[in-house]
Amino acid sequence: MNMKEYIAQAEKDLLHTYNRFQIVLDKGDGVYLYDMEGKKYLDFVAGIAVFALGYNNKEYNDALKHQIDKLLHTSNYYYNVPAIEAARKMKKASRMDRVFFTNSGTEALEGAIKAARKYAYLKDGNTDHEIIAMNHSFHGRTMGALSITGNPKYREPFEPLIGNVKFADLNDFDSILANVTDKTCAIILEPVQGEGGLYPATEDFLTRVRALCDEKDILLIFDEVQCGMGRTGYMYAWQRYNIKPDIMTSAKALGCGVPVGAFMMTERVAQNSLTSGDHGTTYGGNPFACAAVEKVFDLFEKDHIIEHVRELTPYFEQRLQELADKYDCITERRGVGFMQGLVFDRPVGEIINKALENGLLLINAGPNIIRFVPSLIITKENIDEMIAILDNCIVE
Ligand SMILES: *Cc1c(COP(=O)(O)O)cnc(C)c1O
Repeated sequence: MNMKEYIAQAEKDLLHTYNRFQIVLDKGDGVYLYDMEGKKYLDFVAGIAVFALGYNNKEYNDALKHQIDKLLHTSNYYYNVPAIEAARKMKKASRMDRVFFTNSGTEALEGAIKAARKYAYLKDGNTDHEIIAMNHSFHGRTMGALSITGNPKYREPFEPLIGNVKFADLNDFDSILANVTDKTCAIILEPVQGEGGLYPATEDFLTRVRALCDEKDILLIFDEVQCGMGRTGYMYAWQRYNIKPDIMTSAKALGCGVPVGAFMMTERVAQNSLTSGDHGTTYGGNPFACAAVEKVFDLFEKDHIIEHVRELTPYFEQRLQELADKYDCITERRGVGFMQGLVFDRPVGEIINKALENGLLLINAGPNIIRFVPSLIITKENIDEMIAILDNCIVE
């Protein structure tokens, strides 16, 4: 079958939950992807903030091949070395104390919600605890994660959701205060909102929320699924301000292409929340996924990924800002590190389609924002190439 025929087949067979771009991707190398017809694309999407190390990284691929030949899966009723090593490396990078591996980001959020509810339940035996989440947040598509996602369009058709969730505004501490009650068990937020529009939380806001949580014994949960793993120039975005959560989630670039996520917590929460029998997963933390996680942390260190993000961020921001200054239709550049957005005064779909035609992959974050979440190994030259193509597409 040729590319057109494959697309036609996909439209018959796959459930239509995505309006897909009309290409079939075939292989990747570094920061470039190739479709079935051999057309090359500079990729500033990276599987939505997943492929931090780029495509076809030899050491990463070799580690996975090695693990495939050894052992793919065991039940969590047994120990396996990759999971133990991955957890150790993740603890060191995150400075959290306990790790539970999942298969996805949304599952990590489910675990975080359960841990918070159990913590509160053990304190007072009640089952009416509340969670405060943020407007414009995105936490995933399963029922729990969806319940705390601050986009009514995603939620409404699936109600009733888990309930007892209130929404406040990121960076508006008064809106948090207005929602806090004696029943509040957790406040959850993304240190940098991704899908909702590239909004970074301010240091002042995080400081005040942390203090409030300490005062009232409310658990602070950070969803680092998108902004974590070096993307902001810190392994986890909260480390920029050193405001530590009680529970945090990770996924996306955690496996750099292998489906894996995790929720982590401090020892204090671990000792007072989920215990044996409370939570489980068949695949979560299996040797194959954890061999990927292990290698990802090794390569981050060996290849100085975080230093690279820090070094290149000013240039990336400068080039995006030049575009924002040049065009009246761009109203703002915002974001942190390699998690940037250009805000337009109109829908960006047409520009993104034009970019694809011209060999550049971009993704939106809401109708009016182009989101830039490239691989963390991009170079100055890649940025220049991206800006040149995008510039042309905006003119057109
Ligand atoms: C993508 C994302 C999720 C959901 O992750 P999945 O692996 O798609 O389930 C959760 N939270 C944030 C912040 C995300 O960006």
